[in-house]
Order: sequence, then structure tokens, then C-alpha cells
Amino acid sequence: MKSQATLPDALTVSGTNLEHARSHNRRAVLETVRLNRQLTRADLARLTALTPQTVSNITAELLDAGMLLAGSPLRDGARGQPAVPLSVNPDGAYSMGVHLDHQGVIAVVSDLSGRVRARAERALPQATPAAALPLIDQLRDELRRESGLDWSRLLGAGFVMPGPFGVEGMTSVGPTTLPGWEEIDGRALSRALGIPVLLQKDATAAAIGERLYGMASQLRNFVYLFVGTGLGAGLFLDGRLYTGGRSNAGEVGHMIVAPGGRACECGNRGCLERYVSLQALYETLGLADGALATPEHLAGLALDGDGERWLDSAAEPLRQAVNILESLLDIEAVVIGGLLPPRWLNALVRRLHPLPVSIRHRDGERLRLGSAGRDVVALGAAALPIFDEFNPQYEVLLKNGRA
Ligand SMILES: [Zn+2]
Repeated sequence: MKSQATLPDALTVSGTNLEHARSHNRRAVLETVRLNRQLTRADLARLTALTPQTVSNITAELLDAGMLLAGSPLRDGARGQPAVPLSVNPDGAYSMGVHLDHQGVIAVVSDLSGRVRARAERALPQATPAAALPLIDQLRDELRRESGLDWSRLLGAGFVMPGPFGVEGMTSVGPTTLPGWEEIDGRALSRALGIPVLLQKDATAAAIGERLYGMASQLRNFVYLFVGTGLGAGLFLDGRLYTGGRSNAGEVGHMIVAPGGRACECGNRGCLERYVSLQALYETLGLADGALATPEHLAGLALDGDGERWLDSAAEPLRQAVNILESLLDIEAVVIGGLLPPRWLNALVRRLHPLPVSIRHRDGERLRLGSAGRDVVALGAAALPIFDEFNPQYEVLLKNGRA
């Protein structure tokens, strides 16, 4: 799949214009209300550092479009107008999330509060574009029918698959990436599915889901380590997603943590994901390439000798990775989640203690368990159109007002 950038970095300058500021402020207001469940305009002005006039304009627009709901006025007893508590209207907008990987497709539709309203799943052993796109088309129709939701309020779809994307000479083949998607970009997917589609790597999408709805909602600086077939990371720095120059930031699976260690498809030796990934676990258990190489099968396995052996081989490289990430980024926490079944994930995280001393405090907060399990990426995918402040569908919904 192609990365988003089209110009050399040196020729692009990020600008701030009025339109950008407006979209950004609108997202900030929606996010702040969502995080706090219920806020007055005065609270919002305080928490977002926007002027009362700007808050008033934005909330009027969002109320008009049905994305915010106004509660009964609160009496403050003293002076001025009574304060009206605002909350997010779950039915203000919807979003579809698609997770494609080596085993199949999971698709969900979620509402503005992040609640899943419908879910569909299909096995797909050959996840090529020719096989996957017609299937996803069917799933979209199925979700639309079964959810009974007003599809005109759909903000779009997030489409997620394993990375890295479009790195010449590195992992365009191999067991942890999908073949045949090199020439597919968001525009091609939007055309194929007839709805606006945002494309993202699994780790980044899962991190966005964790930030919007999960345990990372209060963290401004964190790295989300996603244990999937391979290993990737989503980086939130200063409250913003950091994706890098070619959308491949966070490809920590190919950080070398064991020089001269296990050979990797990328051509190097000792890459982190050769130790910490479902693929590495499958290999240790003698399941690689077989029909039993699935998270569902792992979920039913006892954590015995071979499992312990994998935990031992994964723990030290992962401790080293945590140390590198903390030292480099001064993050509040490393959140670990992904497709690894929760029992295995818990055992892995426990095995990492004690962590090496670092610039961070020596406490349990440095490592946190993120969401895990089958739907975590699809949920993150559904968060993409909601998280994207420049999503043009926001403008459409705001212009059309209440449904
Ligand atoms: Zn590698």
C-alpha cells in the first residue's frame, strides 16, 4: 500500500489556516466532551483554552448537526444564564471499521460514543485485493441492513491492515504483511467501497482506539505496542499521533534487539518481532504455517513448557525495547495490547518486571495492559474517521444539520 506523502519532505511546509483551526477546534470540543461525559460551555472554554465566543460558535454548530445533546439547565443560583450541560449524541454520526489480516475480515459499525452497533466477520485465507474488496462490499451492506442505522450519517470507514507500507526492498513479502496491496491507497479503496475510506496500519489504528475509548484516554505521551502477527507501535506524542515522514513511524518490530540473532524477512538479524509476535509464538509452539496458527487456537492452549519457553525468549528483547522507547521519547507509559489472547498478554507483561531503571519512575505505571482480543483493531479502525479532524464528511453532516 502506498504511503500518503506525495512531495519530498523538504518541499512541504505545514501551515495553519482558518479552516484547519476550525476543524481542529471542533475536534477538540467533541473530544473534550466525550472524555468528560458532560460539560458546560464554561467548562469547555476552560479545558480547551478556547475563547467563550469560539466555544459558543462551535457548540451551536455541533448541537445543530445533532452531534451534541443539551441537557436540562443547571441552576447556579447566582448570576447570568443557567449553565447547560452538553454531552455527545451517540447517534450523531457513525463509522465503519474494517480489519483485514491473514485470517479474514472483521467489520464493525460504531457510533459517536464508540459503542459497536453491528459486527460481521468472514474467513479469508487469501487476502488479496481481488478476493477482499468484494467481500468487504458485502459486509458493508450487511452491517447497514442489520444495524438499521441512518447510513447518511456515516463519517466513512477506517481500513486497517498490517504494515509496514511501501518500503522498497523491505518486507513487501514475508509472513507478517499482506501480498498484493502495494498499489492500493485510500482513494482506490474509497472508489471500490463507495464511501470515504481512511487507511492505516493495525498498530496505529489500535492506538487511536485506545486513545479515544480505552485506557490511554488520559495519556498525552505514550507508545502502544501492538502484538499482532508481527509487532508494531502507535506513537502519541504531546497528545498527537506521530506517523512519521512516510507513515511508517512505529515499525518497532524491525528494531534490532539481538545482534546476530534470529534471521528476519527484512534481511536483518535479531529484529524485535522475531521474538515478540504471534508469528514468533507460533514458531516456538511448532504451529507456524499450519491451520492452528490462529489467536483463537492460542486462546484455548494451556501455558505450559513451550509457552514458558516463548515467554522467556520474548521477555528480554521486550524489556530492552521498553527501555529504548522510554529513553528516546520520555513517555508516560508503554501500553501493550493486540491480538495476543489476554491470558498470554498478561503473562508476558508480568514477565517484564522488574523493568530496567530508566528516566521514568520505577513503578507499575510504566507498563499498562491495553485492550486485547479479536476486535481491537476493527474498533480502532472505526475510530479513524471520527478521529480525523479533516474528514470532509464532518462538513457534510454539519451542513445538512439534524437528520
Ligand atoms: Zn526485520
